Amino acid sequence: MESQQAIVVGAGIGGLTAATALAQRGWSVRLYERDTEIRAIGAGIYMWGNGLTVLELLGLYDDATVGAHVGPVLESRDHRNRTVESIPINGPGKARVYTIMRDRLIATLLAGAEKAGVEVVTGVEAVAADPSGTLRLADGSRDQADLIVAADGVNSRIRDSVGLLKLRRRLSQGATRLTVPREEGFVAPEDDGKYIEYFKDRRRVLYTPSSATSLYVALVTDQADRAGRQVPVDTASWTRSFPHLAKLLGALDCVPARWDTFEYIKLRAWSEGRVAVLGDAAHAQPPYLGQGGGCAMMNALGLANALAASNAPVPQRLAAWETAERPTIEHTQDWSYRLRLLNLIPDGPRSPFLRLTNEIAALGKSRLRAALTVPTIR
Ligand SMILES: Cc1cc2nc3c(=O)[nH]c(=O)nc-3n(C[C@H](O)[C@H](O)[C@H](O)COP(=O)(O)OP(=O)(O)OC[C@H]3O[C@@H](n4cnc5c(N)ncnc54)[C@H](O)[C@@H]3O)c2cc1C
Repeated sequence: MESQQAIVVGAGIGGLTAATALAQRGWSVRLYERDTEIRAIGAGIYMWGNGLTVLELLGLYDDATVGAHVGPVLESRDHRNRTVESIPINGPGKARVYTIMRDRLIATLLAGAEKAGVEVVTGVEAVAADPSGTLRLADGSRDQADLIVAADGVNSRIRDSVGLLKLRRRLSQGATRLTVPREEGFVAPEDDGKYIEYFKDRRRVLYTPSSATSLYVALVTDQADRAGRQVPVDTASWTRSFPHLAKLLGALDCVPARWDTFEYIKLRAWSEGRVAVLGDAAHAQPPYLGQGGGCAMMNALGLANALAASNAPVPQRLAAWETAERPTIEHTQDWSYRLRLLNLIPDGPRSPFLRLTNEIAALGKSRLRAALTVPTIR
């Protein structure tokens, strides 16, 4: 039987996962990426159990996790550097969460796609799709397939061309991300391998070892905090907020950095005819759970599984995919959205609030549902 044709738009975490999973299930896949090179921003990424399971099922886990950091605990610290929330991880019966350098993750996914036979075409921008399966490219040419997967990020042109957007909210917060070599004295010796989030006023510092030698740092603040969102980082301003992190913050001076404003996106449906949308294009979320990439991967594999599960017409299989995956993804997305409020609570009341959430097990379990379960993945 002739294989079915799929076009994937976007070579980010979601698009590469979808392309690989489809190709591994017998689809003939072409992937278009707008940039001339496929690469990630230089930062780390938290990969929870769901993302790690997807990597295992694609046969890419060993390569993706070379040099990954496996922390013992996730901690939140209040404005006086006191631990107010502590979630043990990576032990027996605990949630799995590793940190990986993004460039390693993307390179591994790309190698997996190529090995599975995906035709990767760079330097080509897609501008619109038709529900019948026609894709229009920026040079005016067209391509046609049984399935089009739009994984072209928050500003997805493909999603918008088929009119699927229901809600797009630019949050009042964002983050600067950077990577620096790990050094002694950034934190106390007993904290060195932990993942730690420090709170002060409306700012947060995320301390994330992401390999034996590199440290991923995210500086989260309001869009309106001009000194706080400045790139290169205004280290003096951040040190005034977190004097106990002076050595670490001082090391961020002149390091290449990138500011991103957080977004929250909902669609009226995840597909229209033969066009499916996933990843940030469909369900962007603020990164407070470190789940945007994990959800994109989970959903991409869920899509390939739903398509492989029957011979029904593609639109029907896409509807089955959405029914299966949407509740868990949106549950996670909504938790991430709620967690933005932690930035808005003043220092005083925030600490008891964080302690309380730490103590209510059901709350923690609900928050981490996507990370703890791997719903329809087979
Ligand atoms: C500060 C911050 C921290 C985060 N931390 C984590 C974390 O720790 N863990 C986690 O799981 N997630 C995290 N995320 C979320 C995660 O980065 C995203 O959810 C994920 O990268 C989305 O992948 P994607 O493939 O959907 O989109 P993208 O990564 O945006 O990829 C889209 C791709 O499509 C290409 N493209 C765009 N338009 C076109 C077009 N018209 N034609 C062709 N190609 C096109 C782009 O060039 C790009 O390569 C974080 C996000 C932020 C902002």
